[in-house]
Amino acid sequence: MKQTLRAFYSDFLLSPLFGIYVIEDPSIATSIMLDNATMAVKSIQEDYINGYAYYVDEFHKTLAQEQKIIEQMEQALENEEFEVWFQPKYCAKDQKICSAEALVRWMHPDSGLMLPGEFIHIFERNGFIQKLDKYVWNKTCSHLKKWKEMNLNIQPISVNVSRANLYSRLIEKDLLEIVTTHGIPAHYMPLEITESVFVKDVFLLNDKITKLKDMGFSIQMDDFGSGFSSLNVLKDVSIDTLKIDMEFFSDTKHIDKSKVIVASVVQMAKNLGLLTVAEGVERQTQADFLRAIDVDVLQGFLYAKPMPAKEYEMILKEIK
Ligand code: C2E
Ligand code: CA
Ligand code: CA
Repeated sequence: MKQTLRAFYSDFLLSPLFGIYVIEDPSIATSIMLDNATMAVKSIQEDYINGYAYYVDEFHKTLAQEQKIIEQMEQALENEEFEVWFQPKYCAKDQKICSAEALVRWMHPDSGLMLPGEFIHIFERNGFIQKLDKYVWNKTCSHLKKWKEMNLNIQPISVNVSRANLYSRLIEKDLLEIVTTHGIPAHYMPLEITESVFVKDVFLLNDKITKLKDMGFSIQMDDFGSGFSSLNVLKDVSIDTLKIDMEFFSDTKHIDKSKVIVASVVQMAKNLGLLTVAEGVERQTQADFLRAIDVDVLQGFLYAKPMPAKEYEMILKEIK
C-alpha cells in the first residue's frame, strides 16, 4: 500500500496509518464498524513505523474512561479536587533541600488518588491542561505566599508548563499576573518545559522564553534525554537549567556507557553555563555517581517522594 501511494505522490513522503476492524458479525451497523476502525487508528496516532492497529474491545473501555474524565474535569476543578503536591529537590553538595517541584494530583471522590499519568494526556489533547496548569501555578503561588507570611524559609518551586500553554498568546500575561498578585518574585517559580517541545518549535519558543526570562522567570528543560537528541537545540535556546531524567539511563545492560553519556551531558551543560538537575534518583549508588560528576541538584524517591502541602510545610519548618 505504501509503495502504491509513493508512486502517485512523488513530491511528498506519505505515511498512511491503518485502523483495522475484523468483521465477525456482519449484522453490526457499518457506522459502528467504521467507528471501531477509527478507534484502532487513533491508538497509533504517531506510530509511523508499524502503521496499523487492529481494533480490540479494550479500546471501548479506555474510551469510556476517557469520556468520564472529560465529563467530570470542569466540576472537579471547581470542587478543588485537584491538589498540588510538592517534591523537594536537594543541593548535591550539602544534601540540603534547595527547591521543589509542583506536581498535580486528582483526589477523585470515587476513585481516590489519581496520578497525572491517568489524565494529563487527555487534558493535553482537549486543551483543558491550559486551565489546570494555571490552577497549579496559582495554588503554588498562594502556598508560597502563605509560607512567606509564616516566616518560613521558602525555596523556589518549579511548575510544569504544557505545550498548549506555550502556544497561548496569554501565557506571559497570565504568569506575570499570578506572581504579582501573590507578591512572589518570578524567580521563585521556575518553569519546566519538556524537551520535546523545544525540539519541535525552537524558534517560536525562543521568542517566548526571552520574554519570560525578561520578566524574571527561569527556564528548565525537563526530561532531557527522553526525546530525540536536543544537543543541537541547546545552542539555539537560552534556558537556565537542564533536568536529566535518570530513568532514561537506567538500562542496566549498558550501565557503563550510560554513565559516560550522563557525565558528558553534565560537563557540556556546565560549559554552557547551565545548572544541572538529576531527577528520578532512586539509589544511593546513583546519587554517589551524580555527585562525583558534579551535578548541582538531585530529585528523586531516594530523597523524598511528592507530598501534600502540609507535609512539605513541615519540612520547611525544620529547615528554618
Ligand atoms: P515530570 O514533570 O517529569 O515529573 C516527575 C515525575 O517523576 C513525577 O511523576 C514524580 O512523582 C516522578 N518521580 C520523582 N522522583 C522519582 C523517582 O525517584 N523514581 C520514579 N520512578 N519517579 C519519580 P508524576 O507526579 O506522576 O507526574 C508525571 C508527569 O505528569 C510529570 O512528569 C509531568 O509531565 C506531568 N505533570 C504533573 N503535574 C503537572 C502539572 O501540573 N501540569 C502539567 N502540564 N503536567 C504535569
Ligand atoms: Ca517536570
Ligand atoms: Ca521530568
